[in-house]
Parts: sequence; structure tokens; C-alpha cells
Amino acid sequence: MPDSMDARCLKCGSTQQVKTYESINISKDPSLKEKVLDGSLFTWTCPHCGTVNLVTAPTLYHDPEGRLMVWLMPQGALTGAQAEAVEKSMEAVSLSMRNDPSMDGYTLRRVDSVGELIEKVNIHEAGLDDVAIEMCKYVTRIEMNLSEAAFKFYRLEGPDNDIIFTYPKDGKMMGVKTGFKVYGDCCGILSRNPAVRPAPGFARVDAQWLSERMA
Ligand SMILES: [Zn+2]
Repeated sequence: MPDSMDARCLKCGSTQQVKTYESINISKDPSLKEKVLDGSLFTWTCPHCGTVNLVTAPTLYHDPEGRLMVWLMPQGALTGAQAEAVEKSMEAVSLSMRNDPSMDGYTLRRVDSVGELIEKVNIHEAGLDDVAIEMCKYVTRIEMNLSEAAFKFYRLEGPDNDIIFTYPKDGKMMGVKTGFKVYGDCCGILSRNPAVRPAPGFARVDAQWLSERMA
């Protein structure tokens, strides 16, 4: 169910009531998945100046069939009390899931931005493991000497399922390709080193998290 909040246009400062989603269940409402993937669920257009603004509200993305929950907590957008309330809900949900065997095998993640949410859903839709993907990025950054590049998984491509990462450079979006074998190798490393896996609950799995594990 959509809620609403008063949002302020970043460009002209006028306020507008915009739709927000505390949680979305894509089995109940499959049309929302596309709107998450193209980002349109999280943007609003200012009626006064036409600027496209981001909605800055927390949202829980739930894919019951894919057994995925991703909690979006937009960084810096919440008051201390709001953030605390979301943290409490996260703890309650992860605790109740831990005590319910029918919830086994769920992937629980937290992200700070819409872009990261889209990436998590993309990775999941491609049938891939996000921890192994972070490891692939790490390896690819080193191999290609792009240590500063903020890679995002874009998609699998071609008959060999090459992995395409994108990253911003000088205001443009660049792409790099890495072989699926790298992904397979990373999955192998992970299965031999289960301690690299995130702790139970809504874990943050990103480049920084992985580099702390690899250190
Ligand atoms: Zn405006």
C-alpha cells in the first residue's frame, strides 16, 4: 500500500505530496518490480520546474518466490528516530524469520540507495549470488587496474554469460566485461571459506564490506 509524504524539490524548493512505499511485495503486485528496476517507483517530477527528484523514504522490497528481502534506507534522509524505528523493524523481521523454518534460505540485505537496491534485484533476477559478485568486482578491479571504480552489476551477456559491470567515469557510464569463470571461481572460494558470508539478519554486502573481509 502506498503512503505519502511531503517532499521538497531539490531545484526550486516547492513542496509536493509524493507516494512512498513502506514495503512492496512483488508477488502481490508484480507490476512494481519493473518500476523498481527502472527506478521510477522512487522518483517524482516537480510540477513547477520539471525536475526529477528522488523519493527519500525507507522501503522494504520483498520477493517471496525468489526468497529475497532488501531494505532500502536512504542515507542521510531519515531522522534519528525514523532510522531507529526501521532498525527495530529489521531486527523484529529477521528474528521472526530465524524462528520460522519455512523462511529458511532467504537472502536479507540492507542498502543505502535506490541504485544499490536495483543492483541487488538485478543480481537476484540473474540467479547470481551477491557475495560472489562483490568478490568478482574486487578481482576485476585489481585485474583491470580500476581500483577506484564503483562497479555495479548490470547483466549477463552473450552465449558464455559474460558478466557486465558498469561504472561512472568523467560523467559517463562505462562498462567492463568479465568472464563467467571468474564468478565460478569466486563461488568456489566462498564455499571453502563460509566465514566470509555475512552474519544473519539484514546484512550490508557491498564493496566496503567485502574489502574488510579480504583484509
Ligand atoms: Zn521544482
